[in-house]
Amino acid sequence: NFEIIFSGRSNVGKSSIMKELTGKNIKIGKRPGVTLKPTHIRYSDLLLTDLPGFGFMSGVKDRKQDIVKDQIVRYIEKNADRINVAVLVIDGASFLEIVQRWEERNEIPIDIEMFELFQELGFDIILAVNKADKIKSDELDATLDQICDKLNMLPPWRQWLDTVAPISAKKGDLKALKSLVRQRLHNEKRDDLF
Ligand code: GDP
Repeated sequence: NFEIIFSGRSNVGKSSIMKELTGKNIKIGKRPGVTLKPTHIRYSDLLLTDLPGFGFMSGVKDRKQDIVKDQIVRYIEKNADRINVAVLVIDGASFLEIVQRWEERNEIPIDIEMFELFQELGFDIILAVNKADKIKSDELDATLDQICDKLNMLPPWRQWLDTVAPISAKKGDLKALKSLVRQRLHNEKRDDLF
């Protein structure tokens, strides 16, 4: 079994990405934060897992955000043995602003916390920087540099082409992500899938 988990804040485009990857539909544009349980998609002999979105949840109490986080962490730790790849999806157009907001409150942004947890658990991480279409093209490199910096990957971001995939699910441009997933599957002789 080969499991790929997808994690990220609500509304970053996780469902859109998984749909674009597999052709299978899952609840795009649902009310953020409603699903607490991981959702699975079988794709050939791969298991793709959509973890509940964390962070921004309209009309949802803070307490529930903690429950979501606990659920995610519990799932990840329980299944760590069979999880091969972790895709952390961020919204490239709002990530830096959100991180700054958390840092001003002296809190560790949840995306960064997750990234570090994935590292601790030894997962092979892919950072999918979605909504690249919303970033001005002449600001893309600088934005990606700053994003990498926040995640302790020394810029320039192009040093991290094995990890960082700028994409736009909306435009159907998932080339960079597909190529990194394929790279991971190559060892499994499953790289014909994407
Ligand atoms: P999820 O909550 O992370 O599963 O996010 P969804 O896939 O439901 O997408 C949330 C919203 O972002 C929807 O309105 C999507 O149409 C939009 N969206 C997803 N990917 C992109 C993208 O690459 N660019 C832009 N501009 N919007 C996107």
